[in-house]
Amino acid sequence: MVEQKNGLQTARKPVRSNSTQQPVTFSIVAPVFNEEETLPHFYERVIAVMDSLGEPFELLFVNDGSRDASFRIMQELHDKDPRVHAINFSRNFGHQIAISAGLDYARGQAVIILDADLQDPPEVILTLIERWKEGAEVVYAQRSRREGETRFKLLTAAAFYRVIERITSINIPRDTGDFRLLDRRVVDVLITMREQHRFMRGLSVWVGFRQEAVSYERHERFAGETKYPLNKMIRFSLDAITSFSHVPLQLATSFGFLLAGLSLIGIVIAIILRLLTGAIAGQASTLILVLFLGGIQLIFLGIIGEYLGRIYDEVRARPLYIVHEVLD
Ligand code: UDP
Ligand code: MG
Repeated sequence: MVEQKNGLQTARKPVRSNSTQQPVTFSIVAPVFNEEETLPHFYERVIAVMDSLGEPFELLFVNDGSRDASFRIMQELHDKDPRVHAINFSRNFGHQIAISAGLDYARGQAVIILDADLQDPPEVILTLIERWKEGAEVVYAQRSRREGETRFKLLTAAAFYRVIERITSINIPRDTGDFRLLDRRVVDVLITMREQHRFMRGLSVWVGFRQEAVSYERHERFAGETKYPLNKMIRFSLDAITSFSHVPLQLATSFGFLLAGLSLIGIVIAIILRLLTGAIAGQASTLILVLFLGGIQLIFLGIIGEYLGRIYDEVRARPLYIVHEVLD
């Protein structure tokens, strides 16, 4: 069944026509952007794992504007297996937004977020669920090893988590991705937060509740390549930092005091030199100082701009995403 959705409704929790649907215990939410090669294998592996549990579940794909056959494959899977559902975005809205839409639509008592590229092995879901049954409300999967990633990605990721740890007030665990299990209570809180620039792994820590970690080995992508090129990674890091920290803004104050202090010393030295020798060094030093200060000021204007742009996005309050159709 294909259901048309008005995108403007997406600011609230969408109502799915689930009168004919059985309640489910687990929802697997998988964001998908151009994963046609992986999807059939992903489906097989997830279904094998979930079937072994013997409890009702749904597999909910979020098609984030894929330009390949991904959505057609979802339709085929949906036709042959009623446990498969899909949300089709009107265009690419990004990984974090796709996850958010999945949470909006998921019906399970526990929701598991899982990348569709098979980097996060679906078998780990069993461990996540075990912890959930023991009472944990957020079970995040922590990477003990990452295979098949470039040195650059590993280095930048390590640096990213360490910076985040230092400058944010919440404790975002190192080396976790979005692969995690969220209890219904947590999901119900998360879907009320409609901020535009979303760092889901931060938000799911920010909400509190009983959090536990499970460690696992991250594999290579099954097929295709990363959908996070450098520019998207930079955007993502900036979103994460601005969502949870004002430290970059406050740096301007510290820098201002530091430079004012230094220039005061400079003035004193200049006066002394002038009195003792009657002359001080010429224009070059002045020029360098002016350029240096100009640079610092531009950097901080840029930082203010990053925050300001985000405030502007929030004020406009556009819907987070626009749904083209739902395979319910
Ligand atoms: N993805 C998405 N929208 C995007 C980029 C990625 O839905 O704009 C999906 C992608 O299909 C994958 C997951 O998000 O299932 C993680 O992306 P990717 O594997 O490219 O990121 P990486 O693992 O390299 O950080
Ligand atoms: Mg990946």
